[in-house]
Amino acid sequence: MTDRYAVIGNPISHTKSPLIHTLFAQATGQDMAYTALLGTPGAFAQDVAAFRQAGGLGMNVTVPFKIDAFACATEPTDRARMAGAVNALKFDGDRILADNFDGIGLTRDVTHNLGVSMTGKRVLILGAGGATRGMLMPFLAEQPDKLVIANRTLATAESLVNEVMAKAPGSPLAACGYADVKGGFDLVFNATSASLQAELPPLPVTAFAPGCLAYELAYGKGLTPFLKLAQQAGVTQLADGVGMLVEQAAEAFEWWRGVRPVTKPVIAQLTVPLV
Ligand code: NDP
Repeated sequence: MTDRYAVIGNPISHTKSPLIHTLFAQATGQDMAYTALLGTPGAFAQDVAAFRQAGGLGMNVTVPFKIDAFACATEPTDRARMAGAVNALKFDGDRILADNFDGIGLTRDVTHNLGVSMTGKRVLILGAGGATRGMLMPFLAEQPDKLVIANRTLATAESLVNEVMAKAPGSPLAACGYADVKGGFDLVFNATSASLQAELPPLPVTAFAPGCLAYELAYGKGLTPFLKLAQQAGVTQLADGVGMLVEQAAEAFEWWRGVRPVTKPVIAQLTVPLV
């Protein structure tokens, strides 16, 4: 029987995950089907139970269910615990294993695909939401010189920094508001959802150091206001989140199937030019 997987979210019609996993399955010869499920707000656990009963072996989880998925996991990884959010589930009898591959997928895209090291670098993250929560541990593992989180609501960034510092004392981590972003950074990540509304966080252009990488986590939107700002500031290394999307999918695929898919051709197929 063909093994069944799915991505669950609401809305879900925009998702690229079925295409990505189908390409991975074809390339690795895995007998599996991967579909998109429209989740029911307030009934996430029931939706998961129905999929498991129908023989489902694993799920990806997207907005707005990542926190519900963490709540229904019986065995979240440390990474998922740190993020307090989950983007992949694996079912094994009564066990619901859970992980969060967003941060590790992004780190792999930056260091492996784009060839940009974070070690000893000054790193700035804009936003302190779910995506940022998943990024912090994998980024700290790369040993940056400093890692600053700038957020519109300063208290959210500060409480996230305090949470991480309690678990990883001595981390080179700080929080600030946009007006207090001082000095240039070697890597700047836009992990706000501002681009989804074509808005721009009030970031000073001095945030971009010469030779900087500007990375927009949203994908498929061409030159977002953030990437335009970076370009106007003279940044030549621009990227969007398509590589992150495909790399987190590859992590989940390997976790489920025990086979590592090659990501480069899939990223190439999904890439929208940054114009
Ligand atoms: P959340 O809703 O959890 O967090 C949103 C963040 O954006 C908050 O920090 C919020 O600040 C900030 N924000 C929203 N609007 C504005 C604005 N106009 N100006 C300044 N700050 C703003 O979102 P996620 O963390 O889940 O997602 C963030 C981004 O990452 C999205 O673009 C999403 O598409 C992308 N993403 C991409 C993935 C990929 O695979 N490529 C995977 C996951 C996410 P405040 O706290 O003040 O409200």
